[in-house]
Amino acid sequence: MTSEQALETLMAGNLRYAALRQEYPRQSSYHRAQVLEGQNPFAVILGCSDSRVPSELIFDQGLGDLFIVRTAGHVVDDIALASIEFAVHSLNVPLVLVLGHSQCGAVTAAVSSKRMPGAIPHLTVRIQPAIAAVSGAEGDAVTNVTQTHSRLTAAYITAASPVISQAVEAGTVRIVPAFYDLETGRVTVV
Ligand SMILES: [Zn+2]
Repeated sequence: MTSEQALETLMAGNLRYAALRQEYPRQSSYHRAQVLEGQNPFAVILGCSDSRVPSELIFDQGLGDLFIVRTAGHVVDDIALASIEFAVHSLNVPLVLVLGHSQCGAVTAAVSSKRMPGAIPHLTVRIQPAIAAVSGAEGDAVTNVTQTHSRLTAAYITAASPVISQAVEAGTVRIVPAFYDLETGRVTVV
């Protein structure tokens, strides 16, 4: 699959999901046996851990389709970056979708600048560049920050990883920022 075909396949699956016309593909015992031979996922989804945004459900995909990295607020640290590199380098995945979503709790916490306990600040600090970038913008602050955070994270993945930037330059992978609306169930590229 090319990057374009991968993006089209994801969006077509999301349209089925949003319209309640799911096909629930590749989820049978036959497919479970088939993927014993190996995996050939067509997309990485870097998404939020939020329980309302499960990748296979919202894109109507099945076993072996999606390579998923989820962290609260879809932030990227070295381990998350390594997971994405593994998919791009070792599995030749042609698309990385960086998926934010509406009403994100991690983004809301970062925007509120309330003191958070434990290791949570490691996470919210990675959302700060997006908060600074949209400061003073019109519209819903959490939505603005989340969409900008997806764009900045997509740029960061490329900038921080020679493995990925080489693949981007070679045209074998695309990094695409996107946004999921909890209310409509629709994903849009941002
Ligand atoms: Zn979230």
